[in-house]
Amino acid sequence: MTIIAPSRRQIWIGGLALAGASALPWRALAQTPDGPFTLGVASGDPAPDGFVIWTRLAPDPLAEDGLGGLSSPVKVRWFVYADGGTGAPLAQGDIETSPLSAHSVHVEVSGLMPDRFYTYHFEALGARSQMGRARTLPLPTAKATRLKLVYASCSHYEKGWFSAYRHMADEDPDYSVFLGDYIYEYSYKKADGLVRRHEQLGDVRTLAQFRRRYALYHMDRDLQTLHARTTSIVTWDDHEVQNDYGGFLSEYMDDDVNMPAIRQAAYQAFYEAMPVRRTSRLIGTHVDLYRAFRFGNLADITVLDGRQYRSPAACPVDGMRKGHIVTDACLDRLDPKRSMLGFAQEKWLFNRFARSDTTWNIIAQDLLVASFTQSGKDRQGHDVIGHWTDGWDGYPATRDRLLAAMQHTRLKNPVMLGGDIHSFWATELKADFNNPRSATVATEFVGTSITSDGPPRQPFADRLPENPHVKYFNSGTHGYVVAEATPKAMSVRFQAISDRTDPNATVATERAFIVENGHPGVVMS
Ligand code: FE
Ligand code: CA
Repeated sequence: MTIIAPSRRQIWIGGLALAGASALPWRALAQTPDGPFTLGVASGDPAPDGFVIWTRLAPDPLAEDGLGGLSSPVKVRWFVYADGGTGAPLAQGDIETSPLSAHSVHVEVSGLMPDRFYTYHFEALGARSQMGRARTLPLPTAKATRLKLVYASCSHYEKGWFSAYRHMADEDPDYSVFLGDYIYEYSYKKADGLVRRHEQLGDVRTLAQFRRRYALYHMDRDLQTLHARTTSIVTWDDHEVQNDYGGFLSEYMDDDVNMPAIRQAAYQAFYEAMPVRRTSRLIGTHVDLYRAFRFGNLADITVLDGRQYRSPAACPVDGMRKGHIVTDACLDRLDPKRSMLGFAQEKWLFNRFARSDTTWNIIAQDLLVASFTQSGKDRQGHDVIGHWTDGWDGYPATRDRLLAAMQHTRLKNPVMLGGDIHSFWATELKADFNNPRSATVATEFVGTSITSDGPPRQPFADRLPENPHVKYFNSGTHGYVVAEATPKAMSVRFQAISDRTDPNATVATERAFIVENGHPGVVMS
């Protein structure tokens, strides 16, 4: 099959020049061949004294066996410098990579100073990696005055160029947050309307296939730019494994027998591909991904796992659990014994609420949280008005418990970040979604897709009068969200790129909002 070459090196260099990063070490990479460093570098999971730095050695990144062209252990050296990268390394070390983890490198750097940027790179097999930039958290007790996040979701490789990722890097945020559908396991059947193809066209199901899929995405220069220049906080949604999967259950009931193995392969490849800590490695068939970060006294950033612990989808039809619209006749949907997060994660989250003392409580997760009464066809093809089973609307008891816990603990300024729905949403999360006069408990900003197809606009727009807690909705654009918190307010920008089929797409603000400290709810700005 034909694979169109990733966007060119010059874009990467150009992006760096625009950012005004210190010239010397960054320019050096112009002469550096990729060698085994074809997948770039990344940092993630910040702490006040360090972060994870990541790379994966892959001189032949799309090798059929998923091992990137290597078959035996390889030693890697890593170096961390003061921001800008000049002078002697502040920290360095060796690590041995192994084919067992596809020569991925996860170094948990510690002993650094809080609240600042550092530079890092790797050396292996006689080659030197790109330089990356990483940021520690402020001390938990620090009076932090500003936090800038960018966040994104849903980047189908075939549907567009990753210009939005390049523009996210140019925002120069403190952290970049990935909310899921970072890869897609499926490919389109026909090439019409695609800008490039996946490395294989059947659904990804084995470890070798998942490794190659992540490698293909990581060869993209715009995604490499974002990872090299920002420290990431990541969670997942469904397409890291399979469309609309939950727990150990497939969207196709007759595929349930294969799901534990598919999930295990997908989770292993996710760990290898992402700058997460060793605590998030695969153990058995399980990955610990819900966790939290504290940005001084200004903000808690809590990261949820919306997929691994789900109760089975409500009211499946004809052997299919795939998301669909159900009416109020589906009583299973309301069962309080069902959970979207699993009861252990719910308890962990609500305990965090009880202890939180930061000005902002940011919850990063995969989906639209707000209730949305929508119209469409049910599985039998009848026109119905109802609720989407794959999202929070499919697990309203979990949402009720979440909002009740926020109220009960008087959680300060909860703001939920989400993705999955490939459209921009600003909503107010109500104590009772059926009563517009009930309290607004939290504020929600859902980002559109980086490239993936959005839903048709009109069917959702038609239902807005019945969903007055939705303050802004738009489908049809692609991009990301910028959220900047200060002690007074959080400002939020929905950023849309000009054209996902243009590798040089520009970006503009589609809409901006404010949330004031002490006043949950969306203020148009
Ligand atoms: Fe998606
Ligand atoms: Ca999704």
